[in-house]
Amino acid sequence: MPVGPVWFRPPRLVACPVQIPRVSSPWAGGDVVDEVTLSSVLSDFARTLTTDFPIQGILDHLVERIVDVLDVTAAGVTLISPGTAPRYVAASDADALAFERLQTELGHGPCLTAYQTGDAVTVPDLRDDGRFLDFVPTALAAGVRAVFAFPLRHGAGRLGALDLYRDRAGELDPRDMAAAQTLADVAAAYLLNAQARQEALEISDRFRAGALHDPLTGLPNRTLLQQRIEHAAQRAHRSHTQAAVLFADLDRFKEVNDTYGHRIGDELLVGVARRLSDVVRPGDTLARVSGDEFVILCEDMVDVGDVLRLAARVGDAFTAPFVVAGTEISCTASVGVAYSGPGEAVTDELITHADLAMYQAKRLGGATHQALNQRSATTAGDRGRLDRDLRTALSAGHLDLAYQPIVRTRDRSVVGVEALLRWTHPQHGTVPALTTVGIAEQNGLIEGIGAWVLERGCADRGRWLAEHPGQPVDVSVNVSVRQLMGPGFADTVAGVLERTQMDPAALVLELTEGVFIEDGSRATAVLADLKALGVRLTLDDFGTGYCSLGYLRRFPVDAIKIDQDFVADIGHDASGAAIVAAVSDLAHALGMDVTAEGVETLEQHDVVTSVGCEHAQGFLYGRPLPASGVPELLRCAGDRAAHRSAGVRPPASGPRWQAS
Ligand code: C2E
Ligand code: MG
Ligand code: MG
Repeated sequence: MPVGPVWFRPPRLVACPVQIPRVSSPWAGGDVVDEVTLSSVLSDFARTLTTDFPIQGILDHLVERIVDVLDVTAAGVTLISPGTAPRYVAASDADALAFERLQTELGHGPCLTAYQTGDAVTVPDLRDDGRFLDFVPTALAAGVRAVFAFPLRHGAGRLGALDLYRDRAGELDPRDMAAAQTLADVAAAYLLNAQARQEALEISDRFRAGALHDPLTGLPNRTLLQQRIEHAAQRAHRSHTQAAVLFADLDRFKEVNDTYGHRIGDELLVGVARRLSDVVRPGDTLARVSGDEFVILCEDMVDVGDVLRLAARVGDAFTAPFVVAGTEISCTASVGVAYSGPGEAVTDELITHADLAMYQAKRLGGATHQALNQRSATTAGDRGRLDRDLRTALSAGHLDLAYQPIVRTRDRSVVGVEALLRWTHPQHGTVPALTTVGIAEQNGLIEGIGAWVLERGCADRGRWLAEHPGQPVDVSVNVSVRQLMGPGFADTVAGVLERTQMDPAALVLELTEGVFIEDGSRATAVLADLKALGVRLTLDDFGTGYCSLGYLRRFPVDAIKIDQDFVADIGHDASGAAIVAAVSDLAHALGMDVTAEGVETLEQHDVVTSVGCEHAQGFLYGRPLPASGVPELLRCAGDRAAHRSAGVRPPASGPRWQAS
């Protein structure tokens, strides 16, 4: 068949002037259409234009009215466009529908000839017809004797054809022929209009979908997510429901792009989008908000357990490697969760908070999730103010350091102190260190603040040493990912060591596993430069990340600090002690020292000591205290050492230092 009956692609057309020919009057008899009837049918059509009739509606209307007004048994119409299957077919009864379809299947018949030639085709007696041999037997078997087909014309082209079927042989009255062609032409004109309307609608739908969706993955984009959040906010307000946002950022995605190229990177993103789509609940919105960042909005959350379970499922979605272009790529994600509690307003700050929580997950080494309750988080307004105020905090003298003792577990002597950033905000009071560092990392102040912490820590140690020359302590300084990866970090450290005359071996830089998931090769280079300066490197908060063991082997780290979450489990959960023991054994096997963080009870002290942690830190031994309190700390420690050498037992718990 040369042409397949299908929907057409008409020319651009919005208005369609239609010439309605005058039908000569009077028309004879009840068997032939009269002028009044024809104009009633035409005015019916005219109304379709103003009532936005859809294409199928126009066709149905045409075949239904035409059998009423012409001397025929049934009517059918098919819209045709070369190359595709017909989208629009209408018929006045089941037989006529079957004939329309039959002609499509056969690829021939009066309908197709009328379409192809642009002229009406008359078959007054099917039994005498030699043109449509395949079509005729079926039509005759169904009781059809005559067929009249009229092209649906527009200019020189055609949209399809209208077929009239009759159970009686014989010509159609010429006036019926003229009326049928008029109706076909009028219908064609209205069809063009309907099609233009539909195309305009499809284009605007496509445009709207394109403006609201990410072209790579097809997921909703940030704009649509924003709209859904507004919708969630209204629902939460009306029906007191809760909502949560999960913010997932792929770990080491840059490495994938660098190693395999952007095309594979893109395919990986599509694979991730597919897996995440499988884990979200119906009704949740999964959006891709930028590069490797995906956000899930959960409305109608019953309790926070729902969203934590979802976060775990998101984590599980990354367990199996992705196969992209025949290559297996392992990929994990850091997930931040922020949720509104019952009765709390749902706002787009949830995204900001989930982003913050995601940052915490990254800091812990990735492949994990962290949750934040909206109420406990600083509001975006607060954050904006803090962001602005932090810029002047250093020069205004609002930043300070607190020092927390680090003891040798064997005898609880103070061997070092950890410098912890303190920001006393004139209105908000003490800002948590993690909030300060988070803001500084995001607004780029971390390099300046971090350099100040280093210099202050080393200078303070110089003063303590001058007062207590016999009691040198190490100073541990936390270094954030952005700071370490920033340009010239090793040079900054070298400059500080020189200016403060600091013994490099007494400076301990505390890194988190986040350093390695950002850009492993850059981290290797910077760490090598630092080692060359003679400083010591410790992996902080160890055990919360995912690929921790791999990092231990690959990077030149001297010691690890077991995260306080594991230590906190000692005494509550049998696995706590087992995990601390296992991590400690492993670190020792790799030639590293171990510090237990967050030791608060004697039981925890005994356990971490018995499993071989050389050092410990926690409220049991001392809370963070101002620099001015450290000499006193050292003096007490000196006294305790003197007691010990005189055979006097130290008190059951360490000295209580002022919390800061
Ligand atoms: P971190 O390096 O793991 O520091 C230990 C944190 O645990 C400190 O919180 C400390 O006050 C707290 N802590 C110590 N012992 C105990 C204990 O027995 N129980 C409990 N519950 N907590 C204990 P802080 O000062 O709020 O600091 C939080 C984090 O902020 C630090 O974790 C560190 O990652 C970061 N941070 C602090 N100062 C700086 C800094 O100057 N630069 C950078 N980049 N990060 C910093
Ligand atoms: Mg630390
Ligand atoms: Mg820590």
